[in-house]
Amino acid sequence: MIASHLVTPEDIDISWSDIAGLDGTIQELRETVVLPVRHRKLFSRSKLWRAPKGVLLHGPPGCGKTLIAKAIAKDAGMRFINLDVGVLTDKWYGESQKLATAVFTLAKKLQPCIIFIDEIESFLRMRGSNDHEATAMIKTQFMLQWDGLMSNTNICVLVLGATNRPQDLDKAILRRMPAQFHIGVPRDCQRLEILQLILQTEQLCPSVNLKELARLTTGFSGSDLRELCRHASLYRMRQFMREKLNTGEKIGKGKIEWDFEVKDHALQ
Ligand code: ATP
Repeated sequence: MIASHLVTPEDIDISWSDIAGLDGTIQELRETVVLPVRHRKLFSRSKLWRAPKGVLLHGPPGCGKTLIAKAIAKDAGMRFINLDVGVLTDKWYGESQKLATAVFTLAKKLQPCIIFIDEIESFLRMRGSNDHEATAMIKTQFMLQWDGLMSNTNICVLVLGATNRPQDLDKAILRRMPAQFHIGVPRDCQRLEILQLILQTEQLCPSVNLKELARLTTGFSGSDLRELCRHASLYRMRQFMREKLNTGEKIGKGKIEWDFEVKDHALQ
């Protein structure tokens, strides 16, 4: 069950070059997380240099947190357990405590290893009076296991959490995640870099002005930009197919350059 969410670094299909507009954050993440794992011997010379055992990526949806988590694992050569919180808290409810222990046992066997928890707040949110007893026990068990990692400097396992709602996280969890990175909505220049990356292999009309497109897309996440590009290219593709079908020309022939259009005040 857990192993079905396990990926080896060689099988991770994301690297830093798939992420645009976040050079500063990537640099910091490499220095804080990746290098201490890749050069464990060197970093073990001082207790103050060790890799953190908890890292939090926070920010709005679709801005690259999952991409970053995978790129860290690839770059650091770490195995990647994508922990499905739903499984931990629903399906295996009665068994969840055992499962929490099993996840850490597996991670230790596979080290260097990342335990990635997307939407970590849904699992490790602030403890409240309405917490089900079993939920509280899973959290306690999880934290116990995590503390075990912290006290053993030879174990190379990292809990990497992602959340859109850091304010909902238990303070005790935040303390265990000393390295925290905000991955925000991209600014103009970052959107330009993301668009350039998404469109680098596309056949665009020469008239397309990516700078202008970046300016027009304030508030778009990386994921929104990808969707926008997908829609615009599909729109042109459908138009191309319609023209071919109408004229009876062979479908495989002809250039399909495409463009972005502003229709009814919305970008298409
Ligand atoms: P969620 O909070 O919803 O899980 P997320 O922050 O983890 O979102 P990702 O899943 O990493 O977001 O990104 C979604 C998609 O958006 C990516 O697969 C990628 O296509 C695109 N994307 C987002 N940010 C970037 C970026 N900085 N560079 C390139 N592509 C990006």
